[in-house]
Amino acid sequence: MRDLTYEIPNLYAAEPIPDAARAAIDALLSSGDLFRYSAPKDAPVSLLEEDFADLIGARYALAVSSCSAALFLSLKALDLPKNARVLIPAFTFAAVPSAVVHADCVPVLVEVDNSYRINLTDFKAKISSVDAILISHMRGHTSDMDAILNLAEEHGLPVVEDAAHSLGTTWNGQNIGTLGRIGCFSFQSYKMINAGEGGIMITDDPDLFARAVIMSGAYEHTWKKHAKIGEIGAKWQNKLPLYNMRMQNLSATVIRPQLPELARRVRDGRRNHDFVAKNLTASGHFHVPAPLDGELRAPDSIQFTLLDFTDAQTHRFLEAATANGVPASVFGLSKDNARAFWNWQFLEETPELPLTRAMLMRACDVRLPARLQISDLEFVATALIAAASAAKA
Ligand SMILES: *Cc1c(COP(=O)(O)O)cnc(C)c1O
Repeated sequence: MRDLTYEIPNLYAAEPIPDAARAAIDALLSSGDLFRYSAPKDAPVSLLEEDFADLIGARYALAVSSCSAALFLSLKALDLPKNARVLIPAFTFAAVPSAVVHADCVPVLVEVDNSYRINLTDFKAKISSVDAILISHMRGHTSDMDAILNLAEEHGLPVVEDAAHSLGTTWNGQNIGTLGRIGCFSFQSYKMINAGEGGIMITDDPDLFARAVIMSGAYEHTWKKHAKIGEIGAKWQNKLPLYNMRMQNLSATVIRPQLPELARRVRDGRRNHDFVAKNLTASGHFHVPAPLDGELRAPDSIQFTLLDFTDAQTHRFLEAATANGVPASVFGLSKDNARAFWNWQFLEETPELPLTRAMLMRACDVRLPARLQISDLEFVATALIAAASAAKA
């Protein structure tokens, strides 16, 4: 048998951190100044917040320990009452309902259909029963944000965007994360910018920003080190709990030199996705849902639906794809998958969501990091198509 191992692309390996980070990290280590609020000004975390706000087009940015922390602080900053009902899509990562629970709120799951996007009929049916809306742009798939924002406004509901995995995606030319009252992003290793862990929230609302700054752990007068906060910080002084979810300077020093890389990663990620999508679609075995008008994604993975596969064929496909060197998973079939809502057993009840369940049982997920070359993409597409043919033979 031909030895294929030499050409199998590693879909999990990270991209190196840019060399530009090294000198800055060295200087930081020499100073020992790792805490964001030690320096009187220009701490790496503060500089990251300025850079990120400029890059994304927001007035304020607050860097924190994770996107989950950013989501939690967003809900707290909105001052929702205890047990407030927060609408979230049923197709998301377990960290999202977890952040809602952490914020003493109750997640209300809305159906996601076979386009991987929020089902607007179910959204309209549930919107009257909630106090806030948290839109998770899962893997960058953007639901109809015009419709969602209009309905939210009609009902006077705040919208938080979970853009953890959507940095670089745009909706009608505007950055995802800047559409709602608050947007949250992740710097965990599998996202577009990799610091191992980390997150950031953005908003144009000075009051929400000041509340989030204090609750993130700006004790005493450290909030004054957020240059744009003004005197509004004083209004919330001593009034709010300090949850200590700050980012440290080392993380910011790893992130900042990656910001100029973003445009390239977005461009290459899109090229990779579209190349594989075209080949998979042409095979007739798979459906790759088209983007909505107005949506331009920044993918670092591909999702596609298996067409006319029985359960047994689906399992055979996954085994064959993995044997061919491409680890693929179907969200609803891999054991304990954190993106399958029935595994969120920490919720008080698991709702019946037939559309989302049907989608999850046939939607497949394959990583396609930006650094892959065309030959890698050919390998991935060929391996998946061969696995489908074998599974159906
Ligand atoms: C990764 C991810 C999160 C969680 O981000 P962390 O920074 O790891 O807390 C939340 N939502 C989505 C859609 C994600 O992909």
